[in-house]
Amino acid sequence: MSLPSESDLSSRAAAAAAACGVDLSAAGGAQVGRSPVNGLPVSSLAWSTPADVDAAVARSAAAYDAWRLVPAPVRGAVVRRFGELLREHLDDLATLVTLEVGKIGSEARGEVQEMVDICDYAVGLSRQLFGRTMTSERPGHRLMETWHPLGVVGVISAFNFPVAVWSWNTAIALVCGDTVVWKPSEQAPLCALASAALLRRALVDAGFSGDESQVVLGDAAVGMALVDSPAVALVSATGSTRMGREVGPRVAARFGRSLLELGGNNAAIVGPSADLDLTTRGIVFSAAGTAGQRCTSMRRVIAHSSVVDAVTDRVAAAYEKLPIGSPLDDGTLVGPLVNERAFASYSTSISAATTSGGSLVVGGSRVLDADARDAYYVQPTVVRMPAQSDVVHTETFAPLLYVLAYDDLDEAIALNNAVPQGLSSSIFTQDQAEAELFMSAGGSDCGIVNVNIGTSGAEIGGAFGGEKETGGGRESGSDAWRAYMRRATNTINYSGDLPLAQGVTFDV
Ligand code: NAD
Repeated sequence: MSLPSESDLSSRAAAAAAACGVDLSAAGGAQVGRSPVNGLPVSSLAWSTPADVDAAVARSAAAYDAWRLVPAPVRGAVVRRFGELLREHLDDLATLVTLEVGKIGSEARGEVQEMVDICDYAVGLSRQLFGRTMTSERPGHRLMETWHPLGVVGVISAFNFPVAVWSWNTAIALVCGDTVVWKPSEQAPLCALASAALLRRALVDAGFSGDESQVVLGDAAVGMALVDSPAVALVSATGSTRMGREVGPRVAARFGRSLLELGGNNAAIVGPSADLDLTTRGIVFSAAGTAGQRCTSMRRVIAHSSVVDAVTDRVAAAYEKLPIGSPLDDGTLVGPLVNERAFASYSTSISAATTSGGSLVVGGSRVLDADARDAYYVQPTVVRMPAQSDVVHTETFAPLLYVLAYDDLDEAIALNNAVPQGLSSSIFTQDQAEAELFMSAGGSDCGIVNVNIGTSGAEIGGAFGGEKETGGGRESGSDAWRAYMRRATNTINYSGDLPLAQGVTFDV
């Protein structure tokens, strides 16, 4: 396999960024971004200072004063234009996603398609920010609720969905009347600058200042400055549970709102009646796709003892054939891990699993290291585990799948729920009663509970997020928009009298 050279990557990145309106020749700074594709530099930019963050928040707050009063369908029209620009520049943004985080072409384009989809959704939503009307206990009175914008929304995003997560938050926040300051992953600044340039164009073309969308670049320290800013009404933070533990209490301490989308440890139960062809395809996409670097990646298979050997063999056979290589090459299905740290955690977890009694079924090694010393390609790996030991309770952000056996469905559900995370889960079964039980209050405790489909690859129409250490936030579809607004309850008296609630009398 041949990996692209540094100048090849840099020139592709510069061309894609330029097409989106970002001139990298005018940029430049001390922070070098490395591409996971070959481990070589792909960007060098300056990071924001705390003063830059304050200034961005101040511009956002000033823009909010006007934006909140713009009719929601007019705000929706700006998001519609943004969606059109995303359609036009889908390949440019997808190229940047591949270069900065290593996604294969199809998945990178899928990520940008998700941005387009959420824009379409948000445009419709801009005419549907409904409140309820309630009956009053008093004659001649009416109760209703009205939804208003919140203010400045701070978005902190993870490397593995470098643009889609921002767009889920931003398209919805904008139609809700909020303005947004984005601190993207330090791994993907070019993706952020290019996406934000397209949004700015949509805003400015429609006669707005463009300040409704701001970007600050940098690492956790820059994220912290956003988290601590009292002018940021909502902090929507996507990343590891470690990050959420730091962010959540700090936002709560200033009575801000937070929306946390954190780590997952997602399992599929495979019942005795499962269609094993479909199950195998579902497992392989969820566990090995994106090189195991989705929050919803499948990390555990809990298979009935009557099928566990067959499932393991089929998954292993599929893994042996998976093309691993440069995500820029057609035909590659498994690209690189993001960096050396990710490779270290892959290796450490495999050792911990085998030390605690697991047996390696397939994979376990780094590949292509002779082609690129600083890029980390690994074999998707399956380890058969005798029990759900400590390492299985931990999210390892790599293509590492543990297989466990069960005899009784209650035992399988208990294993599914025994981990600290609660993002996504699946059951593969042809038995309707098993599927219903898994989706019931006595079933999976996750935010996403699927039947005959893997744990990853959610659509934007549903609310996305999970429970327990996954943080409890919900984003994207359904009624997730409510997190970006505040509710006012209105009581209107048209009776000409003043009866008090609960029969209280207070005659003056
Ligand atoms: P990370 O936690 O290292 O970083 C995520 C973001 O948070 C980055 O922008 C980072 O700069 C910032 N950050 C880190 N510490 C911070 C702090 N103390 N204050 C403010 N900002 C801080 O995560 P990552 O390696 O980029 O992404 C992988 C993780 O993200 C995995 O755990 C994955 O499961 C999770 N993830 C969750 C979802 C979800 O929707 N639940 C989606 C994508 C990724």
